[in-house]
Amino acid sequence: MKFETRAIHVGMGLHNPSSSVVPPISPSTIFEIDAEGRKEDDLHYTRLGNPNRLQFEAVVASLEGGVAAAAFASGIAAATAVMQCLEPGDHVLLPEDVYAGNRKMVRGLMERWNLDAEFVDMTDVGRVAERIRGDEGALGDGDVRVDGGASGVGNVRGDRERGRDGSHSGQTKLIWMETPSNPLMQITDVRAVCELAKAHGIRTLVDNTWPTPVNQRPLELGTDLVLHSTSKYFGGHSDLLGGAIVVREQDAFYERLTMVQKMGGAVPSPHDCWMLSRSTRSLAVRMRAHNEHAMAVAQFLEGHKRVKQVFYPGLPSHPGYEIAKSQMDGFGGMISFLIDGGERESVEIVGRSRLIQRATSLGGVESTWEHRRSSEGEGSVSPDNLIRLSVGLEHPDDLIEDLALALG
Ligand SMILES: *Cc1c(COP(=O)(O)O)cnc(C)c1O
Repeated sequence: MKFETRAIHVGMGLHNPSSSVVPPISPSTIFEIDAEGRKEDDLHYTRLGNPNRLQFEAVVASLEGGVAAAAFASGIAAATAVMQCLEPGDHVLLPEDVYAGNRKMVRGLMERWNLDAEFVDMTDVGRVAERIRGDEGALGDGDVRVDGGASGVGNVRGDRERGRDGSHSGQTKLIWMETPSNPLMQITDVRAVCELAKAHGIRTLVDNTWPTPVNQRPLELGTDLVLHSTSKYFGGHSDLLGGAIVVREQDAFYERLTMVQKMGGAVPSPHDCWMLSRSTRSLAVRMRAHNEHAMAVAQFLEGHKRVKQVFYPGLPSHPGYEIAKSQMDGFGGMISFLIDGGERESVEIVGRSRLIQRATSLGGVESTWEHRRSSEGEGSVSPDNLIRLSVGLEHPDDLIEDLALALG
């Protein structure tokens, strides 16, 4: 079935014994088991699994073209879970222009746990190649040990992945991509990075929050993992928090991921999962409208004399335009632009809008914007004259009128 049809129907019938077309919300934290503690469908306790979570995981996996998904309480919880599947000492490459929250998570939490994170210009595949560490040692004696010959082949692989004895592998284990990036809308050539990673046996992930699978399907481009903050376009109405990881394979890494999900416990509520499944049914049509409205707004901004530069991958002036065209079906609802002026002028402009609301985050039906450096706070690498705009579903003529007024 096609994307739109799957978005509406996949998962809806899972663990839904009633004949209701829309599945009920299942708030119960516990499910009745037999005297031996067993249950056919494996639903016992909501942290471990819940009908609404399983329904959402099924639909998000289908839309990304993956085999399974794990849902989390937020995008950051999903990102942290991925890092927790690695070992202390593992080396990870992330884009310089990564979502600021992910940078803070890596620096504030995972580096204390001894994750070796390095930020690189992900748009330059040559640079990424230079930064890859130590796969030539990956099959060295120190890594593959089968003690007493008791372990099977599976254990050999498992031991390697775990960096046995908790020893610091120092090897690159994950390449993290985000394209378009936040907030500079840089485009990474996902196919090229995946090819490079595959040659070194390194796992890859794309944060696909901004494009959504309507506009970009990283698994089709060669990625192993896809991350979503479902708080954005999947939820689509600025009223829920969530995250998800979709996987290409149900391998040992996925087993670890679901272990972190269930034992770490950062799971979304049944109500939020129900809301997500409901919103996902209209994702395709919403995204197409976001794409169309953002293109009109980007073209208007590009022609305005107060605007120095517009970052929107759908504009031929964007340095990543050709790559974006080759890997995206639409260019999304996010635009960043530089004001001809500094921080003061940028803040004044944001302060003058009447329709576009001043708020961080993105992906809602309402348009929002912000002076990005002010909201990112300490450690921000955003230019001081950058405004980030999430183009909503209002009529683009009204948005353009409001922008004209604010820009003066
Ligand atoms: C918002 C966002 C996140 C973090 O998600 P939360 O749901 O806010 O935790 C991660 N990546 C990107 C690209 C985002 O926009």
